[in-house]
Amino acid sequence: MSSALVVFSAGQDSTTCLAWAKNRYDHVETITFDYHQKHSIEIEQAKKIATILNVPNYIVTIDIFAQLGDSALLDVNKDQDISASHHAKPNLPASFVPNRNAMFFTIAHAYAQKQGLEHIITGINQTDYSGYPDCREPFVKSLEQSLNMGSESNIEFKYPLIHLTKAETFKLSEEEGVLELIIDESHTCYNGDRSVKHEWGYGCGECPSCILRKNGWKEFN
Ligand code: ZN
Repeated sequence: MSSALVVFSAGQDSTTCLAWAKNRYDHVETITFDYHQKHSIEIEQAKKIATILNVPNYIVTIDIFAQLGDSALLDVNKDQDISASHHAKPNLPASFVPNRNAMFFTIAHAYAQKQGLEHIITGINQTDYSGYPDCREPFVKSLEQSLNMGSESNIEFKYPLIHLTKAETFKLSEEEGVLELIIDESHTCYNGDRSVKHEWGYGCGECPSCILRKNGWKEFN
């Protein structure tokens, strides 16, 4: 029986990955992180989408990022401008959370070991991505090697969206049969805004994440 764990934030990318995994593996589980992000609404959406797609959803709470407070994406920094540059790393956006994916993937790897899952699927993307160095292929490959080495495991990371544009991700979600679900239930907006439904989905329409999604939708159509 083939099995996979999807690192699931309920965003457009990871929801597409979840459908992709469900169409390819016999058994699929999801893991979602509550790291006191501003847009914690995504945790509610993750539970909802997991229920709709009938997959287990394991939620992990991580306090350390809020304690460090080193990103405008965190609830403790509500008032910081999410569209600005990162205060300590001017080349990166303010929404960058140092070592977030290293932490997420390490915990996902431990959970996959416990559950006996062979693959970890992540929606990382280096084409239309937000400028995060921990979303690049060489980083995940090297982490995969370290984690397997340190635990005598052979778990493989997969990232089906790595070279896709946002428009191509919309197309893939259509092919995998979840385009409507993406529009209605996935959540991308950094500001956690679900008050207005646009043709591309819910969001403030102005944060970097909404702009990426909105432009991708235009190109897709
Ligand atoms: Zn937004």
